[in-house]
Order: sequence, then C-alpha cells, then structure tokens
Amino acid sequence: MKLNTTIVAGEQLFTADHEAFRDQVRRFVRERVEPHAEEWNAAGMLPRSIWIEMGELGFLGTAYAECFGGSDVDLLYSVVLAEELTKTRVSGFSFAVCNHKDMSSNYMLDASQEIQDKYLPRVVSGELICGFALTEPSGGSDVAAIRTSAVRDDSDFVINGQKVFITNGISADLIIVVARTDPKPARPHEGISLFAVETTTSGFRKGAPLQKMGNRASDTAELFFEDMRVPAANLIGEEGKGWGLIMADLGIERLLSCGIYISACEEMLRITADYAQNRKVFGRSVSEFQVNAHKLAEMYTEVTLAKVFFYDVLRRYMAGENLIKEISMIKYIASDLANKIAYACVSLHGGWGYMKEYAISQWFTDVRLFNIGAGTSEIMKEIIVKQLFGSPEKAQK
Ligand SMILES: Cc1cc2nc3c(=O)[nH]c(=O)nc-3n(C[C@H](O)[C@H](O)[C@H](O)COP(=O)(O)OP(=O)(O)OC[C@H]3O[C@@H](n4cnc5c(N)ncnc54)[C@H](O)[C@@H]3O)c2cc1C
Repeated sequence: MKLNTTIVAGEQLFTADHEAFRDQVRRFVRERVEPHAEEWNAAGMLPRSIWIEMGELGFLGTAYAECFGGSDVDLLYSVVLAEELTKTRVSGFSFAVCNHKDMSSNYMLDASQEIQDKYLPRVVSGELICGFALTEPSGGSDVAAIRTSAVRDDSDFVINGQKVFITNGISADLIIVVARTDPKPARPHEGISLFAVETTTSGFRKGAPLQKMGNRASDTAELFFEDMRVPAANLIGEEGKGWGLIMADLGIERLLSCGIYISACEEMLRITADYAQNRKVFGRSVSEFQVNAHKLAEMYTEVTLAKVFFYDVLRRYMAGENLIKEISMIKYIASDLANKIAYACVSLHGGWGYMKEYAISQWFTDVRLFNIGAGTSEIMKEIIVKQLFGSPEKAQK
C-alpha cells in the first residue's frame, strides 16, 4: 500500500470556493508551469507570458478591488496561491509571484488614488511586475539602519543609494523603494518613507542578476539609485511614516511565506515517502526499516503541528487580532522545520538525493532561503522575546 502523507488541516477555514480555486491553481501549475521547469530554472527568471496568463486567470488580483480588475477576496485565496504555486520544480516560482502580488504592490494600497489608478490595474493584469527594495548591502536585519536617502526638491524627491537581494529586481517594472527622508530622526525608525519607482526612471540602474544556490527561476538583483528624481506624488503614505507600513506588511509577508514553507515540507515528505517505499536495500524497502519509518512518522507529525498552528494564526489574524509574536513563532518554526526536513529527506534518498536529477536536491537548496528571507530566525526570536518580556535585557534578569 502506498504511504499517504497527506495532512488534513484547515477544514474549518477553507470553504468549497477556496477549494475550487485550489483545484484551478493546481491544474494551472501542472499544465502551464511544471512542463517549463528546466527551461525557466536555466533562464534564471520567469517569462513575461506566464505573468500575463496569471493575470488573465485572476491570480494576481485577489487582494485588489474590482475597480482595478481584482476580485477583492479574502486572504485565504493568497494562502491557497502560496501553497499551490510552491508545488512545482520551477525553483522559487511561488516566491516570485507572491512577492509581486502580496509583498510589494500591496504597499500601493496606502498610496494616493492617482498612483493606485495608474499602476494597480497593470499589477493585476500581469503587465507590470513589482518588487520591494528594503535590504541594503550594509545589512538587512537592522531595518532602521538603511542609508538610501530621499531629499525633497520642489515637486520631486531625489533618491541616492543602493539595494541588494531584491526579488524580481531584474524583471520588475515598478519597485517600492524604502528610503530615509529624515537624515537625523529623533528615533532610528522615524523618518523612513516609501516610494513607487518605475524602473525606467533616469538614475535607476539594475545590477547583473545575482547567482543564487536555489530559487533559481526567481530573479534577484542589486539596484542602484543615482540622483534619481521621483515625483512627490509617488510617495506612499505620509512622508517619514514608512516604518508602520513596513511592519504591517511584513506581517502578511511572513504569514504567506509560511504557506510556502509548509507546502514545501509537504512536497518533500510526499516525494521522500514515495522514494523510500520504492527503493530496495538489503532486499527490503527503505521505509520498511523501523528507523526510517519512524523518521517519516516524526516528520509527518511535525509538519502537521506546524500546519495546524499556521492555520490557527491565520484564522486569528483574519479575525483582527494583533499577532506579532505568533507570526514570528510560526515563521521561525516553519522555516527551520523545512530545513530539518530537507536534510532528513536527502539522507533518506541516499546518494541519489545529492543528484540534481532528483527533486529533493533542489528543495535542499531552495528551502535554505526560508529562515533568512523576510527576517531571519534569529530576528524572529528577538521579536518573540521582546513581546514576551518587553526586551531581551529584561528577559535575562
Ligand atoms: C534570495 C533572497 C531574496 C530576498 N528578497 C528580498 C527582497 O525582495 N527585498 C528585500 O528588501 N530584501 C530581500 N532579501 C533580503 C533578506 O530579507 C535579508 O537577507 C535578511 O533580512 C537578512 O539580512 P542580511 O542578509 O543583511 O543579514 P544580516 O542582517 O547581516 O545578518 C547576518 C546574521 O546575523 C544575524 N543577526 C542580525 N541581527 C541579529 C540580532 N539582533 N541578534 C542575533 N542575530 C542577529 C542574522 O540572523 C544573520 O544570521 C532577500 C534575500 C535573499 C537571500
């Protein structure tokens, strides 16, 4: 009998409509994405045509109002997309797409009506690809230490600085740039502002694509701004109040990322259970040895726990609870778990797990990003401890 690693969770959360949408996304991945895995991984980016296709299917507009061409449905549709777009050998596919639709363009919901009308319809249609540029070469964990500056000059801001590791940075047409508008704020997190910047703006330069160990079809870039003039109308939210917007959106980014992490865990388990059952050693299946069967049981249990906790945090988040601590907890648990599972699954594959032709070897390098991107596990623990005790110093007393 075939080992069944399907995890049952979230029955009370997802409706029949969500599940119908899930079926549609699964079919799309199977028929329109998966066949291109080798080609897109080698190209290091996704073709324009797949963005347009996702736009036509309504995948890119779930978070946007109908006046922008979106469907304005609940967050669970974004979760379904994050989960299902992960189940492909196109490396980093869900990261590229979720980054565009839920981790960058969504900042424009706080921009002026003019900016929303100008850009959001093309975000939803897939004609305009977005990215979010916060991290700088001098450091990404310490968000308040950014150095990129934006100086007001009449009706423009003049932006100078540099960003690194920007997802969709090569393919993007529009980047949400985080810059310091107050060089000497009373407190470090004050005086930070966000701008919607077209990548064709004079003074905007993209570096060569960064060569990564994994997530290869999701392009990543360094960006350079040299006396780049951006109309003041492209300021998102109030000048100097960017920190609050970033913190709010990082919550959604981290939650949706957990959809990706847990889905990756489920894929790794499925692939490995199948392999361990079919691979014969000493005349028996790898999975028949109790030590290996127990390993599969442990992994299945841990992924189930993470998934149940994730859905519980999601449910409470959607009900309006403030869950900074819980989001940090599930982000660190799920991303670390994916790495633990990847390690064990490669081992269960033996030498074949180290070979590129086996999907598990790709997962091994893809999941390595999980506890680095969108805030490292160390930073998640810092947030948790601050929430628990007020500050780490206090916690040690
Ligand atoms: C593939 C990829 C895609 C990315 N996409 C984007 C993107 O689209 N947009 C964007 O803005 N950024 C993006 N990032 C950047 C990512 O968010 C940062 O890499 C991450 O936040 C860590 O920052 P850093 O790399 O500068 O590491 P650092 O901040 O230099 O940290 C180095 C080490 O020190 C640890 N550390 C830092 N501070 C503390 C502390 N207080 N206590 C204990 N340990 C600490 C960290 O956990 C880490 O282990 C991406 C990164 C990668 C690799």
